[in-house]
Formats: sequence, C-alpha cells, structure tokens
Amino acid sequence: MKTYIVGNWKLNFNVGEASIYLHKLLKALPNYRDIDVVVAPSVVALQPLSLQVDRHKLKLAAQNAFYRDYGAFTGEISFTQLRGIVDYCIIGHSERRHIFGEDNKMIAKKMAAAIRNKITPILCIGETESERAFGETADVIRDQLIGGLSEVADDDIEKVIVAYEPVWAISSTKAAKLATPDEISEVVKLIRKTLTEVYGMKAAEKIPVLFGGSVSPANAGAYLTVPGVNGLLIGGSSLILSEFADIIETAKRVKA
Ligand code: PEP
Repeated sequence: MKTYIVGNWKLNFNVGEASIYLHKLLKALPNYRDIDVVVAPSVVALQPLSLQVDRHKLKLAAQNAFYRDYGAFTGEISFTQLRGIVDYCIIGHSERRHIFGEDNKMIAKKMAAAIRNKITPILCIGETESERAFGETADVIRDQLIGGLSEVADDDIEKVIVAYEPVWAISSTKAAKLATPDEISEVVKLIRKTLTEVYGMKAAEKIPVLFGGSVSPANAGAYLTVPGVNGLLIGGSSLILSEFADIIETAKRVKA
C-alpha cells in the first residue's frame, strides 16, 4: 500500500503565499512512486494551484465541501465544482464537527458525494479528551466510522481513506498532548477490526488509515512505524516547508 503524507493548511496562506510555497515544494520534491504527497489549501487557492501543480509529484485536497452538487446553497461549494481540481477531500475534520456542528449524517452524505464525483474522501474520526477520560474512545470511534461510511456503497468502500485524529492531540487544541504509538496502535486496530466486521477482511485491508495530531519531524518516524498506519495528516507542521519536506523524507526512509 502507498504511504500518504497530507498537509492540511486550514485557514492559512493567501493565494500568493500558497503559490510560492507550492513552487518551492515542487522544486524540492522528487517523484516518489510509493508516496502520495497531498496538500489541502484554502478553497480560493485550489483552482490556481491546480494549474501550477505537477500531479506526478503532488496532489491537491479540499478541506471540505457540501454534499449537494448544485442549487440554492449560498456560500457552499460542491464536489462537482471541485472535480478535476482536487484528487482528495478531507471530510469530518474535528474542527468541522466541533466548530461548525457537522454530524455523522451530514458527513456520510459528503462521503457519498465525494465518491460520486470521483474525489477520494479522507474521513477524519477521533475522540475528545473527555470522551477518552470517560472510557468512551471505542464507542466514539465505531460510531464515527460506521456513521461516516453509512452512505458509501459496499462496492466503493475501497475508495475511502480513514484518518484517526484524536482531538486532544491536535496542536490547536488547548493543552494538546502527543499521542503515544501504543495509544495510536490500539485505536488503529479497532478501526481495522470494525472495517473487517462490516466490509470483510479483503476490503478492510485495502483501506489506508492515517494518523494526525501534532505530527512533526521529531515524531513522524515513530508514528509511521505504528502497525497499520499508512500515512500522516499534518496541520501545523505542514505550514513550514522545511518541516513538511523533512516528514516526506522520513516517510521515504521508513518505506525503504
Ligand atoms: C489537524 O488538524 O488535522 C492536525 C493534525 O493538526 P496538527 O498537526 O497541527 O495537530
């Protein structure tokens, strides 16, 4: 399976800044066959960057989109509009769930819309600090995973990517803590077990599972060697070109 290194730029970089970053990153990046490097810029930068990007080296992701393809939905953008511009879309990020009130039902519709429009959805799931403290991690993970995938047809299940992002480990969270490889391993096992129970082993084995939460050059190697982890979703560190490039290099070393 490929390794996925995905940078989530969130609400950072204007179009000019994004273009300069991309230019430098493309210059620094060789063409990795087994590593998919992906960045998720702000939506206003996606179209211009899609003309600039060399898709053999790097692919674009949207950070979010709406589930209807067109219509009277002021302020939204659709997966249909993103088609041809991005290869991936992050769906159900914890900031969407907790700041913008997205629930499993809405996230499930977005997953289906992405697949319908030939965009690979990256479904983010993860428990909060208090859910973990109350021993609810397994229930939350199962609920977000099964709920988020509920509108995806069984035949399409191999087209999804899952990202485990414990909310308490995300760098923007108050008092974020680093997840340990053991903590990640336990949840990744649960994700694979749940996928196997619902979709069968053959399909479950083909679904990439990423980890995200304060990933940096200092911990990327340890996280990438957690069994069952196929890549990283990176927020803060992906905004610093040297750090993001370093993480990609680490992925290459781990792969070798
Ligand atoms: C994220 O928000 O997806 C994320 C992983 O952020 P950070 O790497 O900054 O913790």
